[in-house]
This record gives sequence, structure tokens and C-alpha cells, in this order.
Amino acid sequence: MEVPKFAPYVVVGAGIHGLSTAYHLAKELRTRGLGSGADVLVLDKAGPGAGASGIACGVVRNNYFQPAMSELMQACVEVWESDPVAYAYNPVGYIALGAARQEADLTATFERQERIGYRSELILGDADVDAHMKRLFPDWRAQGVTACLHEHQGGFAFNMDSVHGLYGKCKEEGVAVLSGVEVTGFEDASDGSIAAVETSHGRVEVGEQVVVAPGPWAKRFWSMLGLPETIDVHTPSGDVVRDRPMWTYWNLQEGEVGLDPAIFATADGSAPPVIHLDTDAPLYTDDGRLVTDELWGIYFKRDRHSVQGGASPLVVEGDVALDPYPQTTDIDPGFPDLFCAGLSHAMARFEGCRPLYKVARSGGVGAFTADNFPVFDYFRPNLYAILDSNHGYKMIGVGKEVAAVLLGEHSRLLYPFRFERFATGDLHPVSSSPYPWS
Ligand SMILES: Cc1cc2nc3c(=O)[nH]c(=O)nc-3n(C[C@H](O)[C@H](O)[C@H](O)COP(=O)(O)OP(=O)(O)OC[C@H]3O[C@@H](n4cnc5c(N)ncnc54)[C@H](O)[C@@H]3O)c2cc1C
Repeated sequence: MEVPKFAPYVVVGAGIHGLSTAYHLAKELRTRGLGSGADVLVLDKAGPGAGASGIACGVVRNNYFQPAMSELMQACVEVWESDPVAYAYNPVGYIALGAARQEADLTATFERQERIGYRSELILGDADVDAHMKRLFPDWRAQGVTACLHEHQGGFAFNMDSVHGLYGKCKEEGVAVLSGVEVTGFEDASDGSIAAVETSHGRVEVGEQVVVAPGPWAKRFWSMLGLPETIDVHTPSGDVVRDRPMWTYWNLQEGEVGLDPAIFATADGSAPPVIHLDTDAPLYTDDGRLVTDELWGIYFKRDRHSVQGGASPLVVEGDVALDPYPQTTDIDPGFPDLFCAGLSHAMARFEGCRPLYKVARSGGVGAFTADNFPVFDYFRPNLYAILDSNHGYKMIGVGKEVAAVLLGEHSRLLYPFRFERFATGDLHPVSSSPYPWS
């Protein structure tokens, strides 16, 4: 394969972030009269969607306790809404249901959504939550749920279809997206900037800037750039947590049940919102075995041929072999029981679904930062990294913001995600959710 010896802009990784950046950059170069998509080269060692973007459950939601995440997500949802067909986006909404201990967080999240104009409603108290859910799903029967945040924006998108949608937009703008080209290192210029990208197919001299969007391979690029494996984290209270690993891996547990998707519809026959249910009610299998009596949670959506979803991820100790992705994943053997029992706990229509659980290509490993939030920043004068800490299929708008930054603008939305926050203590507030991504 012919790899150009020079490109003004090199984007590494053809996942949601790399492709969104390339597309928006190409569009901006053209509309500002500064160039075109021919100035942008995307390199991927496998191909579009070969990483986390191609296996993501595809949930698009704004249930974030952190103000900066919430505002960034609002901008991302606008991008999803801008072309639902190309992005295979289903604007069905999203419902987060929580136990009493999550009420305060969900209320704060709702109040912020109201302030920023993100359409949602909050229902509190178990009777009112139950009534709200029964209006949508008459067989709703989940217990121990006292708070419900119903987001009327968001929903989900089909993972590979949206990647292909972005890929198509890149092609239309004249961006070259090359598969099977692995980036193996960077050649430094004397001023600390990146002079060239080294690849399995030779050297590509960089005219302007490089963007790396490596998804789960973040740690690999971190070390290629000579960045430290551990960092000191300064907390807002002034304490310093020394030598925290910059990267940890979590195993995202996801699966699907081969039910006719049509049975998962709302009372009026509409497509159902994505549902995320957390509760501390004891969870039993349909044949009466206790699965857990601690706080548990599942999320689920109607997929094309099944009902798909997941549960809380598990930390992976030490390093993981990422390639080939994501076959290295170990799903907790108890996950299918938990997921199917959780579905049945939520709605009677799912009772007896356990035998229909499918062993399919679902789940995978994600790379998380020291505080579990994204890092979007320059690490060399001309190298920008999109390290989304596994939050980011839904963050299709980050590439749009990054494109503006590459062209010299300040992004108010990306600023809170700068790497410097670990040194200054400007960390994001932490919610009481059991998930590393809320
Ligand atoms: C099981 C699972 C479910 C998820 N569900 C959701 C969800 O429902 N909603 C949500 O918002 N997020 C979800 N996420 C998170 C989301 O998928 C990721 O945050 C997001 O897809 C990352 O996008 P990316 O473009 O940064 O990386 P990726 O999509 O991983 O793309 C990185 C690309 O870089 C390429 N690459 C890597 N190394 C090199 C190299 N050396 N040279 C060249 N190319 C290289 C890879 O081949 C890959 O194509 C989920 C993640 C997992 C694992």
C-alpha cells in the first residue's frame, strides 16, 4: 500500500474520535478557505471501527453528574441530531433509575440539564417512579427505585453504522483513510514538536499537526510520547495522591438476549428509551436463586435482533494484551445470570429469558485515566491527544471541538479536560454512582 510521505494533518485511529476529527477538520479547512480534506490523512492499524467504537453498546446519554461532562455531552448530542440517518442514531431518549442513595446526584444532574436546556424530567419517590414507568411499560415491576431521570434527548446509535457514516463523510470531503498502517513511533523536531510519524509503511512527514485518538491503546501512545506511567494527583481539597497509575483497564461486561426485539416496545408501540436501572433490591434469578443483595445495575436497549446491554465493569489487574481486539475479554461467568435476572426484575415480559442469552461478540476492554475522565490536550506543540477514558462513543462532537482547536480556537467545552488538572487540583466532582463513567 502507498502511504503518502507527507501530510499537513495526520490523524491516528479511525474510531469515532479520529474520524469525527478528520471530517470536521476537513470541513472547516474547506469552509474557511484554508485547504480541504486532501490535507488530512487518517491512519489505522486495522480499519474504521476496529477498536472500541465498533463494539460499543452505542448508548448516547447525558446522565453526568459533572458539569463539564454534561455541557460537552449536550454539544455531542447536537452532532448526533444533526444527521441521524448517516450516524444511525435512534433518538429514543434515556432513562436512569436509581436507589435512594442516588437521588441527590440524579437531582443535581437534572437541575443542571434544566439550566443548560437539555430536555429531561425528574420523578422522585417510589410510587411516582413506578407510575411513570408503568405508563411506558405496563409490566414494569422493579423494586427499590426512588429516582428517575428521564432524558428526552439521547438514545443510542448502531456502532459500526455510525462509524461508516463518519467514514463516508470523510471520503466526501476528500480525506484519505488508510487501513492496515500501524503507527510505531514519532520523530521529534529540535523544538519538541513532531516532525514525522513513523509507521509500518514508512515515515510520514507532518506539515502542521498530529491528532492521536487511540481508544484502548492510549497507554501505548502515552509511552511512545515518553509520558510518565504514574502521576501525582492533586485533589481539590489540597491533598496529593502520589504515584497513581495514569492508565488502568476495565473490562466492560455486555451481552445480548435473543428475544424478538418487537416485544421490547412502549405501551403505545413506540421504540423504547434506553434504560439504566440501579437498585439495592435483592436480585433473584427466575428460578429463585439469589444473584446479589447489594446494589446492582444493568442498562439495556432494543437492538436490531435482540435486547442488548451491560452491567458495571470490572477492573483488570495489570496490563492486558489488547490485540486482537476485543477477543481478550473475559466476561464474568456470573454476568449472563445477572443481566437476565435484571431484565426480568425490571419487566415481566423478560421473565424466562435466560436460555436466550447469546454468546456473542459483546463487551471489551477500555483504558481509563487516573481520575476516570477524559484527557483532551496537546502533549507536544503540534500533537493533540483524544484520550476519552472510555466515555466516548457518545462523544461524537469532541472531534468537532478538536478541529476548531487545531485551527487556533479555544474550546470552552474541552478546557476542563486538560491534563494540567491533575497538577492544579481542578478535578471533576465525583458522584456516588457505582460506575466509573458517571
Ligand atoms: C464494550 C464497550 C461498550 C461501550 N459502550 C459505550 C456506550 O454505550 N456509549 C459510549 O458512549 N461509549 C461506550 N464505550 C466507550 C467507547 O466505545 C470508547 O470510548 C470510544 O469508542 C473510543 O473511541 P476512539 O475513537 O478513541 O477509539 P477506538 O474506537 O478504539 O479507535 C482507535 C483506533 O485506533 C487504532 N489504533 C490503535 N493503535 C494504533 C496504532 N499504533 N497505529 C494505528 N492505529 C492504531 C485502532 O485500530 C482503532 O481502530 C464502550 C466501550 C466498550 C469497550
